[in-house]
Amino acid sequence: MYIESEVDAVLLDMDGTLLDLHYDSHFWLQFIPQQYALKHGLSLQQAERHVYAQYEKVTGSLDWYCYDYWCATLGLDIHALQHKTKHKIQVRSDTLWFLEKLKQANIPAYILTNAHRSGVKLKMQQTELTSYFKKIISSHDVQIAKENVRFWSAVEDELQIDFSRCLFIDDSEKILHVAKEAGIGFLRGIATPDSEKPAQNMQDFDTIKQFSELF
Ligand SMILES: [Mg+2]
Repeated sequence: MYIESEVDAVLLDMDGTLLDLHYDSHFWLQFIPQQYALKHGLSLQQAERHVYAQYEKVTGSLDWYCYDYWCATLGLDIHALQHKTKHKIQVRSDTLWFLEKLKQANIPAYILTNAHRSGVKLKMQQTELTSYFKKIISSHDVQIAKENVRFWSAVEDELQIDFSRCLFIDDSEKILHVAKEAGIGFLRGIATPDSEKPAQNMQDFDTIKQFSELF
């Protein structure tokens, strides 16, 4: 794939692709159970068991990504708690370099994310990336998660771009499969979405550790 000649637009996932997934892993797997334990007078172990079981019920659905759902289900103010931990939000190592490179090459970039609007807003404020994107689409806008092929037809209608000349990058292999089914021409996975975890392999897609590997 030659980005400069074959790609009309780059579609990018946010968490684990542009931004270090470590923030979200820490927030949902450690910080939220701690807060739940405090609020309900439970041991950390009891809180983890309860919270993780709630996560399992809705994995991959829009609720899984919805702060309002978690506010109601866990009785915690997710929006306020995200603000409390916002200093931990970080871009991945060569994200800025990559976005600058696309800008210089005049290739439009879009964010396609399952993140809740409130999270997108906070993360864009913290990282100051907004100006690099022609548009930011959250699956909550269309009310269908990226895991569903109908999300992609809604995006195609809205952006009016030729999917066969788009590059889509995501750290979820499951989502890459759906994007492929929807007709996206070029697909890449992220090998190192979480800076604190070992690299992941994908069965059916090429992965990159650094965006510079795309050139
Ligand atoms: Mg992701």
